[in-house]
Amino acid sequence: MINLEVPRKFTTLVEQARQAAMAFLRPNSRKYDRAEHTYPKELDTLAALLDGLSASGGGAGTGGVRRSASSRPRGEVVNGGNMSLALGTMEMCWGDAGLLLSMPRQGLGNAAIASVADESQLARYKGKWAAMAITEPDTGSDSGAIRTTAVRDGDSYVLNGEKIFVTSGERADCVVVWATLDRSKGKAAIKSFVVDRDTPGFELVRLEHKLGIRASDTAHFRLDNVRVPASNLLGSPEILPDKGFAGVMQTFDNTRPLVAAMAVGIARAALEETRRLLSSAGIEVDYDRTTARQPAAAATFLELEADYESAYLLTLQAAWMADNGKPNSLQASYAKAKAGRAATEITLRCVELCGSAGYTEHELLEKWARDAKIMDIFEGTQQIQQLIIARRLLGKTSAELK
Ligand SMILES: Cc1cc2nc3c(=O)[nH]c(=O)nc-3n(C[C@H](O)[C@H](O)[C@H](O)COP(=O)(O)OP(=O)(O)OC[C@H]3O[C@@H](n4cnc5c(N)ncnc54)[C@H](O)[C@@H]3O)c2cc1C
Repeated sequence: MINLEVPRKFTTLVEQARQAAMAFLRPNSRKYDRAEHTYPKELDTLAALLDGLSASGGGAGTGGVRRSASSRPRGEVVNGGNMSLALGTMEMCWGDAGLLLSMPRQGLGNAAIASVADESQLARYKGKWAAMAITEPDTGSDSGAIRTTAVRDGDSYVLNGEKIFVTSGERADCVVVWATLDRSKGKAAIKSFVVDRDTPGFELVRLEHKLGIRASDTAHFRLDNVRVPASNLLGSPEILPDKGFAGVMQTFDNTRPLVAAMAVGIARAALEETRRLLSSAGIEVDYDRTTARQPAAAATFLELEADYESAYLLTLQAAWMADNGKPNSLQASYAKAKAGRAATEITLRCVELCGSAGYTEHELLEKWARDAKIMDIFEGTQQIQQLIIARRLLGKTSAELK
């Protein structure tokens, strides 16, 4: 039986994450929105704190957690690392999503490593900050069509290609690069490789200027005969056609609920601020009266809050399933689709409800509306999540429903 109240054992963690967000993220939110591409040095202290939390199984960020049957006593229902990470992430993104994405050692590549690395690789990359590079100039949503190649040469692989939109690409210690061993063999030949940032031939082309999450750096790389040890391939080097690219896709089951959690955090920030501004304008939200008997702004607020609640619950459900060893690809997509869209709509409606206070830089509402949009794009767009959901519900393959 699922109980989606915040588990008592996580209340301290949630409180700590909220305090950290209030002390380190909110006060620097506007500063690094304006100072795009400047490293937020204030994060170093917080990152050390998060390392401590992660070591105790909690934390926040996109670092991800490893699925392990042994952490779940037989048949027992648990609230584990995925749930605590989702709850912590919501709080931190209530503080600032761009800054959370800039947190050392909490990259999407870390989630990939946590999901698919073997034990020796896990030990090797412990403490490293890893970004994730899937997207290429010619392919984003259709990640099975990537063109970056990896060719075995003795004890190494040699990688060639181009990667764009790599979050934390400039600041991370290494980047998990998706490449194909053999394009003629389709998705099954796609593998991920850990590439250290200082590897010869791994060239930073530029950093992007963006609509939102400006505190986070987004890099474009060229790979020109980048040689990595064969042991940097994550998972199995074998090409198993019946498995598709199940290994690498596993990462998304863990990271999509976290992106949903980021969206939920931003939406909550916007709702809280809007309620405060409405209240100071004399409009109170009344839960004991129907929406028809309240001012239009209060009725709208209640609608937005309901949307927020459903995004929140779907996110916790996806994380809970991961903690309990249940296949959650469908629920991860439900959560990501719902939360990405809800956060985008809620933040924009909050800007609207608050008028000029919503639109100007006096408050953070306009920034949250800009930050929210990416939650509906990266780790699979709204349309792609809907496609995945449709395929799963209708029992169609990716070849049957494109
Ligand atoms: C700030 C930022 C950070 C990012 N960070 C990373 C990162 O760290 N690592 C990484 O690898 N990538 C990252 N990305 C890339 C991101 O994951 C892609 O932008 C995303 O997957 C969409 O790909 P695309 O931009 O090529 O759009 P496209 O795939 O070209 O899609 C364009 C539009 O068409 C729609 N569409 C595409 N296919 C279909 C279909 N079959 N049916 C219906 N609609 C469809 C899409 O939903 C979208 O609306 C980042 C992007 C941004 C903007």
